[in-house]
Amino acid sequence: MKKALVCGAGGFIGSHLVKRLKKEGYWVRGIDLKFPEFSDTKADHFIQGDLRDLSVCKTALTLDSLSEQFDEVYQLAAQMGGAGFVFTGENDADIMHDSTMIHLNILNLNKKYKKIFFSGSACCYPEYNQTDPDNPNCSEDSAYPAQCDSEYGWEKLYAERLYFAFMRNKGIDVKVARFHNIMGIEGTWQGGREKAPAAICRKVGMAKDGDTIEIWGSGKQTRSFLYIDECLDGVRTLMKSDFSGPVNIGSEEMISIDNLTLMAIGISKKKLYVTHIDGPVGVNGRNSDNTLCKKELSWEPKQPLVVGITKIYNWICDQL
Ligand code: NAD
Repeated sequence: MKKALVCGAGGFIGSHLVKRLKKEGYWVRGIDLKFPEFSDTKADHFIQGDLRDLSVCKTALTLDSLSEQFDEVYQLAAQMGGAGFVFTGENDADIMHDSTMIHLNILNLNKKYKKIFFSGSACCYPEYNQTDPDNPNCSEDSAYPAQCDSEYGWEKLYAERLYFAFMRNKGIDVKVARFHNIMGIEGTWQGGREKAPAAICRKVGMAKDGDTIEIWGSGKQTRSFLYIDECLDGVRTLMKSDFSGPVNIGSEEMISIDNLTLMAIGISKKKLYVTHIDGPVGVNGRNSDNTLCKKELSWEPKQPLVVGITKIYNWICDQL
């Protein structure tokens, strides 16, 4: 039986990944500062611990037989959130410091696993290619010359280089994806770390007919959003492939935040008004470019955005 360690297994993507690996027959250990918020972990073994601590990482990476290696490690643990967390600047030190410590610990223990996945981010793409909301360029090779618009993006770009340096010099099998706005049920939907789809669905879900909901920025900024199940299809396809990446895992169905809001209002069947207020928004436009993904992995996501938004809207209404 294959064995996997999921770092960040109490988080949104990590908790879904644990379920996915269990369905595929893996023995899974999860580690996180916290247990999953919305359902019990499906991990065979869950450690509540801090990956900034090398001794905790050693424990997490040690199996019953000391010589045994994990087949796969998924490094998803990070200080993470939506625009309200990443773009205000208030969390920059924690974002850069904590992730760096975790990467170094896990990479220094590379003898304890055969293959490692690292979740990079579309936030690494340069701001100068994302000024036109209708025509952003996020092909993998456009990341350089680098000009990330957040310290979170810089950390991700540096980190993927760190993983590839270990691949070249230490012989580890490394896989790197650049996720583009992953969304789904059982994701953060309130409290300041939530992303746009969950925040909008929450605002729409809480509103009554005739209410006005507030949207950050002009609403003209564009993004694409990928449903968690398809994100994990992409991750698993990458892990089984001969390709190391970095590769975009995202949707090419770009939408403005205004239209995303109208989509959520349409799903709710409520009569609502929208107003725009100042708030952290990030780049004007961003969309996944799946050319490399299709070429190297013979895979691309297919599910229309409205299917995922409907699932999230209904789930958030259940939570309210
Ligand atoms: P998340 O915040 O839900 O999960 C991250 C988890 O890491 C959290 O549960 C957190 O407690 C844990 N963590 C943080 N510091 C830790 C520490 N010191 N020790 C142990 N655990 C720690 O975020 P997510 O959306 O599931 O994202 C997972 C990964 O994917 C992150 O690396 C994120 O940067 C990356 N990513 C996500 C998206 C997205 O749209 N969700 C987009 C791009 C990249």
